[in-house]
Amino acid sequence: MTLNREDYLLVIWEFLESFDRISEKELANRLKISPPTAYEYLTKLSDEGLINKDGKKISFTPIGRAMARELVRMHRIAEVFAYNFLEVPWEETHASVMELEHIFNGKRGEVLFKNLGRPEACPHGNPIDPEVRFKEVPLLLADDGQYTVKRVVFEDQALLKDLASINALPGTVLNVHRGDILEVDNEYGALKVPHPVSMSLRLSR
Ligand SMILES: [Zn+2]
Repeated sequence: MTLNREDYLLVIWEFLESFDRISEKELANRLKISPPTAYEYLTKLSDEGLINKDGKKISFTPIGRAMARELVRMHRIAEVFAYNFLEVPWEETHASVMELEHIFNGKRGEVLFKNLGRPEACPHGNPIDPEVRFKEVPLLLADDGQYTVKRVVFEDQALLKDLASINALPGTVLNVHRGDILEVDNEYGALKVPHPVSMSLRLSR
């Protein structure tokens, strides 16, 4: 698959929303490209006025942010479609729509959104309007106790797969146990969640 501007903007949004930061290395890992390629593309996006590169700190310009917001919105709408109508497994919808979402832009995307019944969130609980913010706590900062799974903000396939294995989808109940390694469990089983990904699992009381 050839990467284009949309794929980069989407991933940058994903990192900034999940972790408040992104590095060239992380971008390269996520997109399975080499760091020099990532560097080159980021420079291009910066030259086009879509992102600011202040040393290692990367942020969107207003134009870049508006563009990314629309892409993320369409990505999430396409995920609802893939999950509800194509029966794509929950943990695979993110990857499966990376190509599909490009078809669902503009007017076609709005028609799809309407016919899906104007969903509020993607199958992973992320708001269709990417600017919406929830009252939530990242697993990393949660105390011991019982929570409801709100969303998986960084849609990492390994984490999604782990969560799916104990049916820990948005809206289900999860117990948090803090120890050397964070652990969560529910009636289906237990999972150890390593530090880096524990930021992307968002819980509510
Ligand atoms: Zn999603």
